[in-house]
Amino acid sequence: MTDFDLLVIGAGSGGVRAARVAAAHGAKVAVAEEFRVGGTCVIRGCVPKKLLVYGAHFAEDIDDAAMFGWDLPSKRFDWPVLRDNVLAEVGRLEDAYADMLTNHQVEIIPERATLAGPNAVTLASGKTVTAGKILIATGARPLMPEIPGIEHAISSNEVFNLEKLPKRIVIAGGGYIANEFAGIFHQFGCRVTLVNRTETMLRSYDQQLVDRLLQISMSKGIHFEFNSTFTSIEKRDDGSLKLTMDGCDDMEANAVLFAVGRQPNVEGLGCEAAGVAIGDKGEIKVDADNRTSVPSIFAVGDVTDRVQLTPVAIREGQAFADAFFGNTPTRVEYGCIPSAVFSHPPLAGVGMTEGVARNTLGSVKVFTSDFRAMKNVLAGRNERSLYKLVLDGETDQVVGVHMIGPDAPEILQAAAIAVKAKLKKSDFDAVVALHPTMAEELVLMR
Ligand code: NDP
Repeated sequence: MTDFDLLVIGAGSGGVRAARVAAAHGAKVAVAEEFRVGGTCVIRGCVPKKLLVYGAHFAEDIDDAAMFGWDLPSKRFDWPVLRDNVLAEVGRLEDAYADMLTNHQVEIIPERATLAGPNAVTLASGKTVTAGKILIATGARPLMPEIPGIEHAISSNEVFNLEKLPKRIVIAGGGYIANEFAGIFHQFGCRVTLVNRTETMLRSYDQQLVDRLLQISMSKGIHFEFNSTFTSIEKRDDGSLKLTMDGCDDMEANAVLFAVGRQPNVEGLGCEAAGVAIGDKGEIKVDADNRTSVPSIFAVGDVTDRVQLTPVAIREGQAFADAFFGNTPTRVEYGCIPSAVFSHPPLAGVGMTEGVARNTLGSVKVFTSDFRAMKNVLAGRNERSLYKLVLDGETDQVVGVHMIGPDAPEILQAAAIAVKAKLKKSDFDAVVALHPTMAEELVLMR
């Protein structure tokens, strides 16, 4: 007899989904969470970030409005208003998540839990709780490299709570978070410099589109330093930061944001004592059924470092719950996962990039559409979109769709269905264009 059928450690996207679904299947479930219900996505990730992206976009919309006949007073941005509205929305969602769990009879234990054996955890209060199965869904946290003065830098954890906007911000990294926040801070009027250790940004995206993002970002006024790293960060008496650099000139800034990847949260979790195997990157090793090296302990989401995306963690949580509490063996399919960078403009892709296709398939056909969105033309905004279809040269199956331009992620979600369904270019061509849209370019490439 155990206290629960399932004890989940971590109330983020994967953990919440697993807990709710397992409870709906009739299991007695508890979730231990040391911080806030909702996890990275809701509390300090996707959700507040997207709201800031919306907020940032008004800067351009207000400028563009003039050509559409709107005579607006000059714009002034009030960071505390947006920050506090976003934080309030996050609070509302956190409550909604907690209510949803409680309504499904999931017990929320607001404490840190540590593995104490194959079927037991110890809570911060010292109490031991037992469960038939334990699911580790502790997520990941920003990686902060060991650089002298790193304590003066912030990560994506702190960026949503800034007391005031930094006049000059330097962002370390060339991935999702770096490019998204470069766009956000730039639109808010900050001077932004992005520093990347190589000259390749957003490695998993089609590099032709990444080049387009770079070109647009530079023309907007975002600064880039490539092949450069930080030697030290020093805080001056006036609060400003002196950044000693390797590969580029030293810099002055009011804030430094590190966005150089995320590391799985396994420290102090008791994995060694419980016999849960950890991989080379500090991740919890699992099999295709999310099972760790201990048969009664499972793991889903970022802590397993498979694909660090919220919808993937949710799928893994769902699959785990259905398989082990719903009598429905389910495994997550990792092919054709669409993803997007909410930069300004956003970038989105699904399937193989041109580079991957050329290395994998040999024979490849590529169709592109390089165009200026109608709205940008009238606004006088010289910002071109780029859409790309990557085809298997033998079969004409569309193996990748990649887009940069306004609303690209919204459009790509639908295009991802076609790629997942293994449709051919002729299937795209057979669809009548929906005019006038940007998305019609997908069926007009010849
Ligand atoms: P990313 O993995 O996207 O990018 C990390 C960047 O930092 C890369 O440019 C990488 O370079 C560089 N880097 C890695 N290690 C170091 C180091 N020690 N010193 C200097 N540079 C380094 O990480 P993010 O932090 O931006 O985001 C973390 C994860 O969160 C993403 O991978 C993604 O899965 C998820 N995420 C998803 C979002 C979305 O879906 N829109 C938004 C935000 C985050 P190199 O390429 O050379 O390794």
